[in-house]
Amino acid sequence: MNIEIEKWIIKEKEIICNVAHKIVAVTKCCDDILDEDYLDTTSKDDYGTYIGYGVKLVRTEYDEYCYYKGIKYCPFCGKPINIIVDDTIDYTDSYNKLKERQGELYKKLNKADSVKSRKTIYTEVEEINKRISYMYKDDGIEILSDLVKGSETSD
Ligand SMILES: [Zn+2]
Repeated sequence: MNIEIEKWIIKEKEIICNVAHKIVAVTKCCDDILDEDYLDTTSKDDYGTYIGYGVKLVRTEYDEYCYYKGIKYCPFCGKPINIIVDDTIDYTDSYNKLKERQGELYKKLNKADSVKSRKTIYTEVEEINKRISYMYKDDGIEILSDLVKGSETSD
């Protein structure tokens, strides 16, 4: 299986650099790999520690938590899983613009004195918050089925 990704980078402060992995295209090795609910794609473990983007086994045998273990080969057909980085894109400027707008809107929200105007401002705040959190998030396996190009082989 080939998973083509883009690396989205945000340099929040001098030292903090956040990387989100966005899936661009997928070529699957077999049908099973996308049907199973114990596989996922992520770059972090349950504690938020970076462990490298890739396909992970999700263990759900304990109700309270699951954890991620990276796999290099498909557990169904044994073919290698390749993560291909198409591009690395710096979204720091867009991120900063969104944060600036978010700040302006929060100020406006504090000054707004009608229910209607608060509602309008809040709708925009929610939209901006959504866009900001999207920039931080790795694409998970749930997105794979929408992007699959087709099987590498026909067997
Ligand atoms: Zn496979």
